[in-house]
Amino acid sequence: MNQFFDAHTHAHFSAFKDDYRDTIRRALDAGVGLVNVGTQKDTSRRAVEVANEFESDPVYAAIGLHPVHTAKSHHDENELGGGDAAKAFTSRGEEFDYEYYKELALDQKTVAIGECGLDYYHIEGDEAEMKHRQKEAFLGQIKLAHDVGKPLMIHCRDAFNDLIHILNANYKILNTIPGIIHFFTGTEDDAKKLLEMGFSFTFGGTVTYPPKAGMPDYATLVKYLPLDRILSETDAPYVAPVPYRGHRNEPVYVIETVKKLAEIKGISAGEMAEATVANAARIFRIQ
Ligand SMILES: [Zn+2]
Repeated sequence: MNQFFDAHTHAHFSAFKDDYRDTIRRALDAGVGLVNVGTQKDTSRRAVEVANEFESDPVYAAIGLHPVHTAKSHHDENELGGGDAAKAFTSRGEEFDYEYYKELALDQKTVAIGECGLDYYHIEGDEAEMKHRQKEAFLGQIKLAHDVGKPLMIHCRDAFNDLIHILNANYKILNTIPGIIHFFTGTEDDAKKLLEMGFSFTFGGTVTYPPKAGMPDYATLVKYLPLDRILSETDAPYVAPVPYRGHRNEPVYVIETVKKLAEIKGISAGEMAEATVANAARIFRIQ
């Protein structure tokens, strides 16, 4: 049993192309289990490949289509690399291909469907059309989660009203443990509605940053949430926690986030570590 859990990371992205093995090994050596999360076809397949390369270790995959990749989006070299194929991909976007993702979803090391959801922060072009594309892809992934009996790994930015509306209409087809809202940035009221539907919440490096306008008041939010609905993540290579802020993030840094969550919640780091591991094990159905 691992001692910490990075429930949402991307140690399989281009940012780690030269050292993903060492990066993952550093995490495992420190007792950190992890889920590498795909964002489109290539990164989803890669997440499954890496999970299987670490066959007997607590390295898992989530597979899905991120809402920003349903449309033309700005190119992120950390994610897809700098090649022409990657650039061509981001200039056209992707439609959710159910059969392609189903094959990946059925892999025994795949523990969740996503990251999927809605992102209205990054919308460019025809707003109504782009929102429609995101919703269609999300509904396709809710169906897939239902069909394979695995939880959702949800990304949501500036779209909590629509997200809650869609989930309310659909969450009953999901398991009683329907999934995770990753990198939660909603309000306490949003959290309440999502808790009632059975969702849990992951927090990353931003909880270690000083409070900032436009971001949630994590001190209040984390205190409000029940301990059995809180998970830790890094979202590496992005948003490294203090004291690594500004550097490339990596899964082993999740330990800093767990310490901060414990401090906010007023419990020991050991208790928070234990809770976040137990919550991940229950949601992802892993040992
Ligand atoms: Zn992510």
